[in-house]
Amino acid sequence: MVQSMNCEIINVGTELLTGAILNTNSQFLSSELSNIGINVHNISVVGDNPKRLQLVLENALNNNDIIILTGGLGPTGDDLTKEVVSKVFGKKLVLDNTEKEHLQNWFNKRNIPFTKNNLKQAYLPEDSIKIENPNGTAPGVYLHEDGKYIFLLPGPPGELKELYFNFVQPTLKSFNNQKVESRFYNITGLGESLVEDKLKDLVENQKNPTIATYANLGEILVRLTANGPDAEKLLDEKEKIIKERLGKYIFSYSNNSLVNTIGNCLIERNLTLSSAESCTGGMIGEQLTAIPGISQAYLLGLITYSNEAKIKVLNVNKKTLEKYGAVSEETCWEMCTNVRKILGTDFGIATTGIAGPDGGTPEKPVGLVYTGLATKDTVKIKRNLFYGNRDTVRKRTCNVIFQMLREELF
Ligand code: AMP
Ligand code: MG
Repeated sequence: MVQSMNCEIINVGTELLTGAILNTNSQFLSSELSNIGINVHNISVVGDNPKRLQLVLENALNNNDIIILTGGLGPTGDDLTKEVVSKVFGKKLVLDNTEKEHLQNWFNKRNIPFTKNNLKQAYLPEDSIKIENPNGTAPGVYLHEDGKYIFLLPGPPGELKELYFNFVQPTLKSFNNQKVESRFYNITGLGESLVEDKLKDLVENQKNPTIATYANLGEILVRLTANGPDAEKLLDEKEKIIKERLGKYIFSYSNNSLVNTIGNCLIERNLTLSSAESCTGGMIGEQLTAIPGISQAYLLGLITYSNEAKIKVLNVNKKTLEKYGAVSEETCWEMCTNVRKILGTDFGIATTGIAGPDGGTPEKPVGLVYTGLATKDTVKIKRNLFYGNRDTVRKRTCNVIFQMLREELF
């Protein structure tokens, strides 16, 4: 039963040790594994060095039932994961003819010459199961030996995720005769410590379900995970409490981001939006345009950074800027009102602030940001004072804008 199984993730790649690549695979795997109730006890990162990889793997095998290795499955000489795993289990690497054909076709289709080193990817350890990789050339490998479950997954995150969902997750779930269920509550508009305080008794007395909170720049995720035949019922009971205490701050029950929730809501309701960004410099537009299908809702995004742009493009009154300054309630008011009018969208949003590190004064310190939302009939301006560096101030500004839209929409 997986519930009591320990797992270690081993990420292989020198580029991870030098900091050239962010180890997103370990974050993805550890969060997915905890969603299905598997405890990750250790994450190791090791360079493309067979001796050190062997040591790390042997150590992992001493302490864990499940080992997931990522990376090092490619065609080049430094890709050695299969070789080391085979050595540790005393297995030969054997050519898989179907895989060889698949590889050759892959190269032919793309008109890329098939060099000999590519054949390396078609070799698999004896007695292992191949995990098909529809998006790439290196297949994954699954090995069940000495009571241990070993998964080898390719390094590129897109490929890894697909193999995880296609094979690793269903395989791990099949070990488990007990149901494991997770539910998510995405919260905004409340600080993390307040959320924790409201759930303190649940966190302190947690058993089944377990409860965890994670915070990221204004968005807080609460996750409940229960196991056993009564998992659903146990989750229902706790969910009722969470809803009672945090209901109005929950914007998603499916681990969706705030911007996605807003964007999809605009699309579903046939509503339209324009933005005029100053201190966020396009961050709002960037996040919105990452949502598929948003073009029907998000009709205009301006970056009006200079006073001149605010006057000439946005028609902000020169006198307003002279009297109150660019970072002011009055300027923000005109920005969101005027940007909405250009195309007559349902909503107009605007940001103007001092992101720092320079440019602050006693009256207008670094972190002071006005965020505005205009509709046909109303204008709301919020004065925010954020802490943190330039990047944090800008990201928090985006979060507040999306919160304001949410309040308007829900
Ligand atoms: P590899 O399978 O080791 O040849 O890795 C191929 C590519 O996948 C690397 O060059 C990285 O760009 C990416 N990659 C490998 N490991 C990771 C990881 N742990 N997190 C994110 N990307 C990775
Ligand atoms: Mg590598």
